[in-house]
Amino acid sequence: MSPAIIDPDDLSVHAPQPIPNLYVSEYFQKHGGVTSLLELDRVLPTPLSEESTSNSEDEASVSSLVRDRQFLEGDRSDDFKEDNEKTKLQALAAAIKVMISCLGDDPEREGLVKTPERYAKALLSFTRGYHTTVTEVVNDAIFHEDVSEDMVVGKDIEVFSLCEHHLVPFMGKIHVGYIPNGRVLGLSKIARIVEVFARRLQIQERLTRQVALAIENILKPRGVAVVMESMHLCMVMRGVEKTTSSTTTSCMLGSFKEQADLRGEFLSLVKGK
Ligand SMILES: [Zn+2]
Repeated sequence: MSPAIIDPDDLSVHAPQPIPNLYVSEYFQKHGGVTSLLELDRVLPTPLSEESTSNSEDEASVSSLVRDRQFLEGDRSDDFKEDNEKTKLQALAAAIKVMISCLGDDPEREGLVKTPERYAKALLSFTRGYHTTVTEVVNDAIFHEDVSEDMVVGKDIEVFSLCEHHLVPFMGKIHVGYIPNGRVLGLSKIARIVEVFARRLQIQERLTRQVALAIENILKPRGVAVVMESMHLCMVMRGVEKTTSSTTTSCMLGSFKEQADLRGEFLSLVKGK
């Protein structure tokens, strides 16, 4: 993988496309074929029929059309965004209800009746990184400093993410170091940058690399080093690994890649407890 492939601010690579209200059934037919299971027609707003599109007198249809056009043109009003969020939540909750049935439990029993919506909300929160960019979270907290020789290290930053192969959490710590080239970042912002990428469906290797590339991209430092240690529940819960075992990944860029002594210094700094 070459660094140029991942632009930390380009969400188009991994971000799911927003689901337009009117096309959700089609969307599921194309992407999952579960329309009948979900009974989407019942849970979703009425699709715009051929007949109503031709009736320009009908105010409701006109407003649907306007909203639909706004969606296509990418100029979405807040109302439309809210509707789209609601639709997404409903479709997700419906899918989770099916999931519970498939697992062999009764989604209507008392303890589970609110679980689909609750889990849907939780999942959307665990993946909110799709709707954030590095530029947004950094929010101009870049300072000009003449500290070009000193290594800046943020260590033991807690990370929680979701493994994209099993949709099960992996969690651990990430350590970030860089050698400034006239620009430094507010320290709390490193943790915020990590969140942007951790709150997506991930693999640890990509997460590590994306954090490094993001720092490189916004600071243009002399070098960036990122090391992540984490425990994957998909492994330990299945008994593939012991609960104490962790996976370590690293990404070294610039002077950290070129100079073994710098790498060594960084690693001894993050390992020293
Ligand atoms: Zn996994």
